[in-house]
Amino acid sequence: MEDTTGKMVYKYRIYINSKQYHDLTAVQSEAQCNKCETWTDYSKISVFNLINSLTEQMLTMSKTSAVWICPKCKVANKIKDTTIAETKLKEPYFLGVVPSPPNRKDGLQDRGQYARAVKQWAWNFINELEEKSTAFREDYRENSATFEDYESGEGGGEEE
Ligand SMILES: [Zn+2]
Repeated sequence: MEDTTGKMVYKYRIYINSKQYHDLTAVQSEAQCNKCETWTDYSKISVFNLINSLTEQMLTMSKTSAVWICPKCKVANKIKDTTIAETKLKEPYFLGVVPSPPNRKDGLQDRGQYARAVKQWAWNFINELEEKSTAFREDYRENSATFEDYESGEGGGEEE
């Protein structure tokens, strides 16, 4: 129980971490298994060529097909028969992490482009701040007694 108040304050922080931000916002592709219908992260599947049956070779005029194995049911799926979906974070999203501000690269970058990048970055940051302060206000309203304990420096005390 001793770091309860510590954690409470901690969660209103916004981290500046470009890599983490880009990982969280990256477009993810997923492949769906035709047998069990499970979705699998496309970047984690390995694709290999499987020799087609003779009938298939005649029908498709190709000797091999690119396939991947579903990790769940172990069935081989042909890439050309696979549904691949791209998932993107829906806006607005609040991640608690923002990228570093854009760099002006030695005046080589187009001025307008740089201004737009900064503006976009700032709005993103403002939205994150707004979200955290809203969360703080909501929590404060619900648990004002706990917060007051923390503010008066008596947190982590003898509550039951
Ligand atoms: Zn499957």
